[in-house]
Amino acid sequence: MRSSQPPTNRADRQSPDLIVVGSGLVGLACAYEAALAGALVRVIDRPGAVGAASPVAAGMLAPAGEAWWGEEELLRFGLRAARDYEAFCDRLSADAESEVPYRRCGAIRVALDGDEAAELERLRRYHEQLGAPAPRLVGSECRQLEPGLATIATAGLLFEDEAEIDPRALASCLRTAGQRLGVVFESAAVSGLIVERDRVGGVLADPGPVRSGAVLLATGAWGAAGWSGSSLALPVRPVKGEVLRLAVPAGAEPPCRRIVVTERIYLVARHSGEVVIGATSGERGFETTVSAGAVRELLREAYRTIPEIGELDFIEAAAGLRPCTPDNLPMLGRAGPEGLLVALGHYRNGVLLAPLSGRCLAALLVGRSPPAEITAFDPARFATMVR
Ligand SMILES: Cc1cc2nc3c(=O)[nH]c(=O)nc-3n(C[C@H](O)[C@H](O)[C@H](O)COP(=O)(O)OP(=O)(O)OC[C@H]3O[C@@H](n4cnc5c(N)ncnc54)[C@H](O)[C@@H]3O)c2cc1C
Repeated sequence: MRSSQPPTNRADRQSPDLIVVGSGLVGLACAYEAALAGALVRVIDRPGAVGAASPVAAGMLAPAGEAWWGEEELLRFGLRAARDYEAFCDRLSADAESEVPYRRCGAIRVALDGDEAAELERLRRYHEQLGAPAPRLVGSECRQLEPGLATIATAGLLFEDEAEIDPRALASCLRTAGQRLGVVFESAAVSGLIVERDRVGGVLADPGPVRSGAVLLATGAWGAAGWSGSSLALPVRPVKGEVLRLAVPAGAEPPCRRIVVTERIYLVARHSGEVVIGATSGERGFETTVSAGAVRELLREAYRTIPEIGELDFIEAAAGLRPCTPDNLPMLGRAGPEGLLVALGHYRNGVLLAPLSGRCLAALLVGRSPPAEITAFDPARFATMVR
């Protein structure tokens, strides 16, 4: 790297230290952290970015609520990411000179029938085993915390430390802070890597090659599929998710303060008045249309959970592609030829994990040790997969 001090006024350079391919939240966080570590960074994303996950995401920072059987390494990494998030937002707000809208609001997971109550109890026991107990609530206690909940909510689990952030506002702050640190943003489709004597020397982009000392792939669900000159084992696939965005009418109260989760949907109400209802999950390749059935199902379940939803204004229905790996864990670290780094496969947790992933990748780039938790996410675990 050319400097250990954060640069203040970097111009567009012919040959950056690092090219980040992909300007979703993961790519933006990696670029920001690498620039803070002193690297000259160029971020390349194709025009349009149809299907990207980051602009669609709900923005729950919910490592405990999203924890699932068999994903304990992810939970550990997620808990660390959540612990560090507020400090990250403070630093980013200062660098972007704009408030990052982070809110530690807590989350409540509710059961709407007997079967769901039994499942909730199974989840409670799992969290207890993990050493992260979540208090169990009866229906009246749920409604004391969230008066808008329907009376069919008969039990709940409380996750007090969970938080939310607006992913679009976060992306905008990361972009601004990056630009202030000299990061250059370019609109182009990347179609391959330049590899010379088993070392990465840049990328092949439309309209031409761009040379650099290192390349970081943050290409979400697209990985490096179809790239020329690459025989990388990066088994990432798209898992489509549809969400709705509603708005609280002027002067009205939000329908809930905490994140509200049921077995089928979640609701996130922001300070800004935006309410996100998510999310479907389906595997249909790179297709990103929003189906009428998905809109109906999300609205119906949201209405069943908090009837007041019917009073809100409808703003948007959107779909994005979650990047998923065969073991549901991200790929973070070195891969393939020297100088190539990857930050892929963040699946359901990319908003939560982007800042910590960025710090890990920046540490690897400048030769510092990343946190030990990242060993579980070494991309080499897929090196023997048939492509
Ligand atoms: C409906 C939904 C709800 C979600 N809710 C949450 C949530 O509440 N909390 C949470 O933590 N996570 C959530 N997620 C997951 C999160 O959104 C993703 O894990 C995260 O956004 C992935 O970020 P990314 O930067 O890796 O990918 P993306 O945001 O998809 O960005 C990848 C970028 O790479 C670019 N790219 C790809 N190939 C090329 C190429 N060849 N050349 C140039 N550019 C290229 C694309 O154009 C794109 O802009 C949700 C996801 C969805 C879909």
